[in-house]
Amino acid sequence: MKPERQGESEPATRQGKDPSGRGLTRRQMVLLGLAGLAGVAGTGSVVRYRAQMAEPESGWDVFRGDAPKGELWELWKQRGWAKEAYHYSKLGRNVLCHVCPNVCQLEPDDRGRCRNRVNKDGTLYTVAYGNPCSMHIDPIEKKPLFHFFPGSRSFSLATAGCVFRCLNCQNWEISQRKPEETKNARGPEFRLRPPAPAFGPADMERLSLFPEDLVALAAWCNCVSISYTYSEPTAYYEYAYDSCKLARARKIKNVFVTCGSINEAALRDVGQYLDACHVDLKGFDDDTYAKLNAGRLHFILDSLKTLQSMGVWVEIIHLVVPTYTDKPDMIRKMCDWIATNLGPDCPVHFSRFHPAHKLQHLPPTPVEILLQAQAIGRSAGLRYVYIGNVPGLRGAETTFCPNCRQVVIDRDIYSITAFNLAAGKCKFCQTKIAGVWS
Ligand code: SF4
Repeated sequence: MKPERQGESEPATRQGKDPSGRGLTRRQMVLLGLAGLAGVAGTGSVVRYRAQMAEPESGWDVFRGDAPKGELWELWKQRGWAKEAYHYSKLGRNVLCHVCPNVCQLEPDDRGRCRNRVNKDGTLYTVAYGNPCSMHIDPIEKKPLFHFFPGSRSFSLATAGCVFRCLNCQNWEISQRKPEETKNARGPEFRLRPPAPAFGPADMERLSLFPEDLVALAAWCNCVSISYTYSEPTAYYEYAYDSCKLARARKIKNVFVTCGSINEAALRDVGQYLDACHVDLKGFDDDTYAKLNAGRLHFILDSLKTLQSMGVWVEIIHLVVPTYTDKPDMIRKMCDWIATNLGPDCPVHFSRFHPAHKLQHLPPTPVEILLQAQAIGRSAGLRYVYIGNVPGLRGAETTFCPNCRQVVIDRDIYSITAFNLAAGKCKFCQTKIAGVWS
């Protein structure tokens, strides 16, 4: 156990071109088996999981007696995929996890809500260490981060598991799964070390990618950053933490794509190595958070303030879900809070909902509602308000200079189509544009 300190929308619904024109050579992509997956020859999901499983019954509590046992547990430990967790305390043979506000209290052989932490004989283990189930090289715009190294590549990965239960989750096949449902510990072990051998979809089941390999691979792939994304990095905290620390030492940036539901001590601990966070602010009242996500609002607001106070670049996304999070009054309160507490330079992305997971019956968000949300954001004083997931909507993903209103950066899905920024300033009037540009 570490001293207390002791006590992740993907795959994207849109596909596009590589905006950077840099990065992997074709040889590198062939070696890695990423050709056609790296956003150069057309993007596609690399999410690999063993089988579509029936949706588990449990979801709102810890999983009693569900820790891996016997031969499977031994294999899991041998592979290094089980590692003593950070941020927990012992209560006799029980343990209390302090990473996220769920604060799971686990008896021996229980598994936490995130499915990634188990109590074995009074010690808390993460079972998601070095075992990603999804890996991809994405344009940073896909996170989306629009004011952070535009046009750069981000090495993106996830393990199974999540601290939330979003009804609309686009990645429920991995977020609502146990690591054992996405990995095969019984097959021959396969570690990927750069220069990497070719591997294919079947290899993802047995692939290990420990922090040192991950960081070396990201560097070898000419990625500016590593994104901990697709599912929820809080759920694979130890793996993300150790990787972030090594990446920082190699001057690779770290990006969390997160729901923001994490306790302050754990956030501050990993936050010292984070460069940017894309936080999914899913609603603006506890009722909605409880119904839609199994979460609580104030933890996310606290995280946003903590991240900004630590100098981490923050962008916010709000998925506008019909009948849940599309109310103008709620959006107004949210934008006012952002402007007051994070400032008018914090970019906000209003994203279009598409039917997914348990909300298949709802229609996509009407474009008029998204335009209304954008207008509300701007009237609250926010300078950079975007609309996502509506390809072809003019100006939806354009950065305008807040002073002269000229186009500073224009985008077409993930491609940069205009770039009128020099040394972080508008080329036309020299106004500073908020962001991390180089
Ligand atoms: S990180 Fe997982 S085990 Fe820890 S409190 Fe959160 S849901 Fe529970």
